[in-house]
Amino acid sequence: MSESKDFLRTIVEADLKSGKNNEVITRFPPEPNGFPHIGHAKSIFINFGIARDYNGHCNLRMDDTNPSKEDTKYVDALKDAVEWLGFQWKGNVHFTSDYFPKIYDYAIELIKNGKAYVDSLTEEEIREYRGNVNTPGKRSKFAQRTIEENLDLFERMKNGEFKDGEHILRAKIDMSAANMKLRDPLLYRIKHSHHFRTGDEWCIYPMYDFAHCLSDYIEGITHSICTLEFENNRVIYNWVLTELGLDLPRPYQYEFARLGMNYTVMSKRKLLELVEGGQVLGWDDPRLPTIAGYKRRGYTKESILNFCDQIGITKTNSMVDVAQLEFCIRDDLNKKVPRVMCVLDPIKVTIENYDGFEEIDASYYPHDVPKEGTRILPFSKEIYIERDDFCENPPKGYFRLTPNQAVRLRHAYIISFKEVIKDANGNITEIKAEYYADSKSGSDTSGIKVKSAIQWLSIKEAKQVEIRLYDRLFKTETPVGIEDINTNSLEIIKNAFVEPAVINEKINVRFQFERQGYFYADPEDYTNAKPVFNKIVGLKDSWGKKTKVIEAPIKSQSKKVQIDGTEIAMSEDQKNLFTKYTSTLGLNAEVANIIARDESLSKFYEESLSMLNSPVSLANIITNEVARELKQMDIKDLKFSVKQITQLVKTLDDEIISNKMAKQVFEDMVKTGKDPKQIIEDKGLVQISDPSVILPIIDEIIAKNPDNLAKFKAGNTKLLGFFVGQVLKSTGGKANPKVVNTLVAEKLK
Ligand code: ATP
Ligand code: MG
Repeated sequence: MSESKDFLRTIVEADLKSGKNNEVITRFPPEPNGFPHIGHAKSIFINFGIARDYNGHCNLRMDDTNPSKEDTKYVDALKDAVEWLGFQWKGNVHFTSDYFPKIYDYAIELIKNGKAYVDSLTEEEIREYRGNVNTPGKRSKFAQRTIEENLDLFERMKNGEFKDGEHILRAKIDMSAANMKLRDPLLYRIKHSHHFRTGDEWCIYPMYDFAHCLSDYIEGITHSICTLEFENNRVIYNWVLTELGLDLPRPYQYEFARLGMNYTVMSKRKLLELVEGGQVLGWDDPRLPTIAGYKRRGYTKESILNFCDQIGITKTNSMVDVAQLEFCIRDDLNKKVPRVMCVLDPIKVTIENYDGFEEIDASYYPHDVPKEGTRILPFSKEIYIERDDFCENPPKGYFRLTPNQAVRLRHAYIISFKEVIKDANGNITEIKAEYYADSKSGSDTSGIKVKSAIQWLSIKEAKQVEIRLYDRLFKTETPVGIEDINTNSLEIIKNAFVEPAVINEKINVRFQFERQGYFYADPEDYTNAKPVFNKIVGLKDSWGKKTKVIEAPIKSQSKKVQIDGTEIAMSEDQKNLFTKYTSTLGLNAEVANIIARDESLSKFYEESLSMLNSPVSLANIITNEVARELKQMDIKDLKFSVKQITQLVKTLDDEIISNKMAKQVFEDMVKTGKDPKQIIEDKGLVQISDPSVILPIIDEIIAKNPDNLAKFKAGNTKLLGFFVGQVLKSTGGKANPKVVNTLVAEKLK
């Protein structure tokens, strides 16, 4: 756990200390309507983590109140995810459906207290009567039904006398409340649908607002932790428990920010679309952000837990860079797994002056890793090297084999070029080379200087394997749907080769294939006859390089060329900064690298941090925007100040403006040096995130488009995007897209 306590642990500690609670009991309450994803990992880490840290316990509860979408296979996947992450729930798995009889009795109790009534308006009318933020709602005439009438109707609802939607049970709260959620929320609906556990026993099902607080109460939950979109539901949560006069101690609800990650979609519904639409090969497709997908790909639980710890618990929604997760897995495997050689695109090299055979004893681990172990590497006259490790007409800075440049074979000898053999089309089919007998790695007396070492395999002993290379599933940073899919996200190489030890010794299921990345023996498809490896992650964040325009300015350093000839080593000071940025401040490696290596950027960054504790957002704006300006001039010549940048970041963090708006503001700051606040005001750039402002607009758009609503309900889920788009449009692009997305999805559910 990080040293500083998050706000939830602060609350829990205070409650234990004051005696409000004797024990902390949390729960993780997923709906079994899909496989859990990395967002759920965050929730599991928080709920089970807090219970563990304070010697309490955490329940696993399936929130199974929507029979048409739920299934046992999802229950199993959820259980598996919790266990795989190393947590254990107390006792049996709980199900909200276990409490249906009790929840029904509580509903009767509320009716008897005059606090709930059966309404018989149509869905349209209910929406219309609710009003909007500016207009108070009006109560249905059915609210005047007597207690006896309500009890009778509710019982007949239960007995299946009515069709879906004919009646509904509502709480009687306040039709003109500013918080729209309080305008007589729905408690029970009729749904004639087979439930995967209770079968056809029930045809009425409790709504979230009624079922959740009562399930928490029944289980004796002390701290009911959920995500921010339920903030406005908290009053209903408390209202139900209070109106029923339930004994203390009662559970209380606390909200944290849900995890959003770029280049990915996260809701179970969207993931289901990809699975059902055949865009991926199943819920455990290694390209999905599901726990099953990460597991299959080769992620370790340690890397995922570490990621959850790094992102922390906050109360403002933010987008985490997927590179940060990739950094965590790389960081975990770097010191754990053996390093071996593989060749993905082989080309034959014949070493003309070598005629024997030897077995080289090569270490599995580099010298700075505190692990030991070696394997035998066969060396012979005919070897494979990677096709692009040879270049006939090398560009400047090419450090591998060329007609005029020798290269070291990793763990073995230095070779130099003699001749190239080509086929009729001019493709290279073989390279002839010679080796230097006195250049053997570890006892090199040849005096020959080379600029890099490459991987190779003795052809006779090499083992053929299938390699699956994965790239991001989406090509855009905030994907909306299928149109954003990266069509090159899976590449299968059938004709790759690895060292014999990888297959024969099996000292691990994960390996670093040197210079290629980290790989995992596919748990489903690997057989001895056909070994299959999944690429877990590359050695560096190559995606960041592809998309980001900013390059780390290289100041005078001791120029040490790394094995692949692209990296310049950092100075001690830079290394220290890099470590601090990645491990203490939670920056992803790419961003940390850019800042740490550049003195003016790190100076700017450090100064901004002293004014605003928002390391990730500051780093993002500094590497993406400020860096461009600092390339052209000195800090003291900039028109804007460090302080103004922190003000800009603060408005971003508070979700007053969007990322896109921030870019606009920054451009103006560069030119005019005006305060961001002023610019935001002048341009009228305020982002709308308040659900109570957005919800009525959504209602309006839904009401205006009955045809599309019907199509959506009939299964055309792509129309979600249509509704979101319309809402954004009608706010002139000012509504917070994430909030709109969530709210629209909730509405259409
Ligand atoms: P989805 O939209 O993916 O279906 P959900 O919010 O409906 O997610 P549930 O399965 O109903 O998810 O919720 C289980 C728990 O996990 C809830 O407490 C929910 O708040 C939490 N959770 C879901 N998604 C995230 C996320 N992205 N970040 C953090 N917590 C999440
Ligand atoms: Mg859900």
